[in-house]
Amino acid sequence: MAQLIDGKAVAARVRAEVKVEVERLKAQRELTPGLAVIRVGEDPASKIYVTGKKKAAEELGFNSWEHHLEASIFQDELLALVQKLNADPAVHGILVQLPLPRHIDAERVIATVSPEKDVDGFHPINAGLLSLGKPGLRPCTPFGVMRLLEEAKCEIAGKRAVVVGRSNIVGKPQALMLLQADATVTICHRKSDLPREVAMADILVVAVGVPELIQGEWIKPGAVVIDVGQNRRADGKLVGDVDFQSASQRASAITPVPGGVGPMTIAMLMRNTIIAATGGV
Ligand code: NAD
Repeated sequence: MAQLIDGKAVAARVRAEVKVEVERLKAQRELTPGLAVIRVGEDPASKIYVTGKKKAAEELGFNSWEHHLEASIFQDELLALVQKLNADPAVHGILVQLPLPRHIDAERVIATVSPEKDVDGFHPINAGLLSLGKPGLRPCTPFGVMRLLEEAKCEIAGKRAVVVGRSNIVGKPQALMLLQADATVTICHRKSDLPREVAMADILVVAVGVPELIQGEWIKPGAVVIDVGQNRRADGKLVGDVDFQSASQRASAITPVPGGVGPMTIAMLMRNTIIAATGGV
């Protein structure tokens, strides 16, 4: 049986580190990190995510603001709010919760956030810095996966890493982060021969959004498996993109769903806000 990688425990550790850092910044530099979150419309999942982010920020002693706008807002009004937050010295991190209503160009909004305050790490400048291997704000979920691998004492350099999924928020940045850590990286998508590629992986990261797509028998014995997927099954159960039962028979270490990658994302958002507040990238 694989060792369980406990994302809840690691996330708690990250938050504890951030809290110490916040106290130090307040005491030594009279600086309180500030996180502004913009939510547009009434998407129920967005409401839950934003509430979680705000709660975490408050618990760690940040200043935190939620700007909740009507779904019918004009794009220009939203852009004006982002620009106002860009110019506000008390705001160090700005997060625009996605998805946005269809009449709003999400890429334009993301590109309007100041790259120095882009705590989601989605701005083209930060994406570019990552692909150049330069410091910058990193997308929270893959950043969290790197921390999980570190905590699981998973050696990355020289290992074969396979990332399934190539989204701009998880798969692609994940592959670049693993490459920067000297793994030999393969990125898979819908056209890939998954059983063949997955069998090569010493480190497998899956971010697809298809419940239990990855079968245990595809996995190389001893691989480290990170399941980013969060899928709600018809019976209400939350499952990952990896068939946990069969995969945990083959892997040396694996993240559960829930309790694996999920809790890391907010913790890394808090870390990113500290990085933005201190200019520490
Ligand atoms: P996305 O839909 O933007 O991207 C999915 C990717 O998977 C695409 O690149 C697509 O080509 C690939 N894909 C889809 N079906 C495939 C198949 N059958 N075979 C191979 N590749 C396939 O999704 P995303 O935003 O990257 O999210 C992926 C999953 O991760 C979702 O379940 C999402 O809920 C979850 N997620 C979790 C967190 C977290 O905090 N734990 C954060 C972000 C996303």
